[in-house]
Amino acid sequence: MYGLSEQDLDIQARARAFADELIPLEVEVELANGELPADVEAAHKKRAIELGLYAANMPKDVGGRGCTSLQQVLIQEQVGRVTNALAWVCATPPSWLPAGATADQMERYVRPGARGERDECYAITEEGAGSDVDAIAATARRVGGDYLLNGVKWHVTSYNGADYAFFQAKLVGGEHEGDHAMFLVDLPSPGVQVVRTPAYMHTLGSAHQHPIVAFQDVRVPAAQLVGAEGDGMSFAYEWFRFERLMVAARCLGAAERLVAEMTAFASQRVVQSTPIVALGAVQAMLADSLTELFAARSMTYETARGIDAGIDVKVQHAHCSMVKLYAAEMANRVADRAVQVLL
Ligand SMILES: Cc1cc2nc3c(=O)[nH]c(=O)nc-3n(C[C@H](O)[C@H](O)[C@H](O)COP(=O)(O)OP(=O)(O)OC[C@H]3O[C@@H](n4cnc5c(N)ncnc54)[C@H](O)[C@@H]3O)c2cc1C
Repeated sequence: MYGLSEQDLDIQARARAFADELIPLEVEVELANGELPADVEAAHKKRAIELGLYAANMPKDVGGRGCTSLQQVLIQEQVGRVTNALAWVCATPPSWLPAGATADQMERYVRPGARGERDECYAITEEGAGSDVDAIAATARRVGGDYLLNGVKWHVTSYNGADYAFFQAKLVGGEHEGDHAMFLVDLPSPGVQVVRTPAYMHTLGSAHQHPIVAFQDVRVPAAQLVGAEGDGMSFAYEWFRFERLMVAARCLGAAERLVAEMTAFASQRVVQSTPIVALGAVQAMLADSLTELFAARSMTYETARGIDAGIDVKVQHAHCSMVKLYAAEMANRVADRAVQVLL
């Protein structure tokens, strides 16, 4: 099915088995607001590493698993069958970083990230710059051998559990005035603090919330610049492409799980002597869900294969955006139908 190789099927099976190990813990973890006992979390991480599901996106020469994009999709699809608080463990460190990292950054961020020893977060979005990242107001000013960073960032996912942040800003002064640049900011750092932590609709442990974070006169050595001045936006785009594809993959898993739960419930729920799965209206909801899941999965796998084949980056960008849009809306429609079947 879907033309998967033996190696693809093996990775898929390992990810599926791990997801099946996590599913029985879901209710307990949801009731605990997404918090897991530290030893359980550590055991899950160890298992993800052993199974080859951790840092699957990182190149082998930096300590990652060097999986193809399609294989990364297969892993994240299975992970998407599990609630967020548990699924987080199959982490994907910044695979865009090695290509632009200095030797020092490789040793301090890339390799430890691939080993599961350092976690990152991204500080890009701002109140006045959401979809339009070019509108960010954060600044980076060169002062001697350092940069002075300022800005307030929104939705900084996993800030509380992170060892460092990617901070995107516009350069002030110098040859690249107004251009974007990306910086590595170790956490905690003087001048970096949480403004507030808004509530979200999903349940995540305290390390993976999405706080608003202020960076005020944060001084970092010039060695914390990623790539060159002016490269910031290209790194952000690369991360967006990756995340959009992986969000789509997780939506496939979520939809598959929902269809399984709907089918199981509808088969055993008897109303007026008839299992509701025998009712045409319920069957139509299941059929529509499976059809849309098949379409979304086909698009997502095809997008991953295009990346593996090295198609034009602008086409990759468009495809990643389209599959995230389609798969997310598909999963939303399937979730809506699941609510109707179960209630
Ligand atoms: C769960 C979650 C985690 C996130 N994690 C991170 C993170 O770790 N780091 C980070 O930096 N950011 C993160 N983000 C931010 C995310 O990338 C932004 O939410 C996204 O870029 C959209 O910005 P916005 O929320 O301000 O929406 P807005 O830009 O205000 O958009 C609101 C609505 O208007 C529409 N819209 C906007 N512009 C246009 C236009 N020109 N034409 C037509 N329609 C338009 C949008 O499609 C959307 O429907 C996260 C967001 C969420 C929800």
